[in-house]
Amino acid sequence: MRNETHYLDTRGLDSSRPTFSSALVKGIAPGGGLFVPEHLPSLSLEEISAFAEWPYWRRAAAVFSLFGVDMSAERIDALTQAAYGDQWDDDRVAPVVEVRADMHVLELWHGPTSAFKDMALQCMPLFFSESIEILRARGKADDDYLILVATSGDTGKAALEGFSDRDHTRIVVFYPVDGVSDVQRKQMVTQAGDNVGVFGVRGNFDDCQYAVKAVFANDEFEDWLRENHGLRLSSANSINWGRLLPQIVYYVSAYADMIASGAVKPGEPMDVCVPTGNFGNILGAYYARLMGVPIERLICASNENSVLAEFINTGLYDISEREFVTTPSPSMDILISSNLERLLFHLAGPPQVREWMGELATRRSFRVDRDTFETMREVFVGDWVDNQDALAAVRDVFEETGYLMDPHTAVAWEVAERMRGANPVLIVSTAHWAKFGADVLRALKGVAYGDPLPPEYDGMSGFDLLAQVQEIVGDGCACVPESLASLAMATDRFGDVVDAGREGVERAVREWLG
Ligand SMILES: *Cc1c(COP(=O)(O)O)cnc(C)c1O
Repeated sequence: MRNETHYLDTRGLDSSRPTFSSALVKGIAPGGGLFVPEHLPSLSLEEISAFAEWPYWRRAAAVFSLFGVDMSAERIDALTQAAYGDQWDDDRVAPVVEVRADMHVLELWHGPTSAFKDMALQCMPLFFSESIEILRARGKADDDYLILVATSGDTGKAALEGFSDRDHTRIVVFYPVDGVSDVQRKQMVTQAGDNVGVFGVRGNFDDCQYAVKAVFANDEFEDWLRENHGLRLSSANSINWGRLLPQIVYYVSAYADMIASGAVKPGEPMDVCVPTGNFGNILGAYYARLMGVPIERLICASNENSVLAEFINTGLYDISEREFVTTPSPSMDILISSNLERLLFHLAGPPQVREWMGELATRRSFRVDRDTFETMREVFVGDWVDNQDALAAVRDVFEETGYLMDPHTAVAWEVAERMRGANPVLIVSTAHWAKFGADVLRALKGVAYGDPLPPEYDGMSGFDLLAQVQEIVGDGCACVPESLASLAMATDRFGDVVDAGREGVERAVREWLG
């Protein structure tokens, strides 16, 4: 096929150079490395400006084609149209909102699950099914795929919604019964689709994740799945290149929209500030910058799990003494930031990546060399925000501007305020406030994170609290999305809870498959 891009392994162990479709289905390189494109395309300012005239799906199709996806232009168009169609509650899909003259917000939560994971997971499963068809046509595969997901909330629902009734795939999601909000649980256990399953796991997110990882490591179980059900295991997590590529699109799109609105003149630099967990979202911005989007600084915003902000400021990634803490921005509560490996590859190359990832596994820390650190500092800056400051930012920005943010976005806003320079800042907003209604209510009421809400809210469910927030803020703020509001009345389809540990998860999958 024309202009096919091949993929390299960040650790340089896999020399098979897969195309997009193979890399997508493989997910991760044998040996633990991640796939990165061998060549990066570039975009001129004229080409970027032209995006503003197009619907979002076409912007996505243009970026996918530039990246040498091994599918025909017609198929790429059809898949991106389906991914970015009327399941989005805003025609623009990823609109840029001017909240203050110097602060623009890129809203990535207009999809069906109201969080940024939809940007990739409305798209990636379609390309995944298509890739399986391609591999079958080439005689390279005849199995279907079982996607196993351990989730702390947002990913599980977005993956269910994305994979629901997709050809050649089934999906089972495990969530910690002690770790998700009312709204998040309800979103998952009411999921429609003939190929989906949802189970609670007794314990917290770590227990849940640990159990699912153990299943992936069990070859016997994989053999059993293939022999008895013709299924191979795969995952939908953000180390898959298929989740990163869609995350480059909205940075090109946002810059084009900012030219069109007059927020920047063509070529004028902007800074981008991203609330960061697994480093996938901000990496999309890094790739957009490498392709020619005039992004000057990438501002990495962390919460109290501040290992990334620390790394960007010191070159030392150190979790040897770090305790995992819970925060009002749970989707950023991560200590091992998997996608950082891709940045290290681009800065330093495979031998260094192997060395540093080896040190991280054995000593729980690594330090990059001076050159790498300095190259990184030419682009990245970072800072972190504690739980109380994050909630204070929700309230202050609402009082100052009338714009209501969720606590993840608030982390980015606060860091952007502190690090603001001469350029306009694009703050990346990753969730609708209504996904985290209880903490938004705490913020508006001046209640500290972790403290109980005032007695007038006693006995209210997460859904009742959304109505309370809506009453305080009025209709000027983005209203509770219909898909969330209607959940309160929806009937649960899934209620099973299993024991933590590999056996519990495997038994659940066996019984679910029948
Ligand atoms: C996943 C997520 C993040 C973190 O994104 P990464 O790509 O993991 O850095 C931030 N905010 C929300 C709401 C998320 O769901």
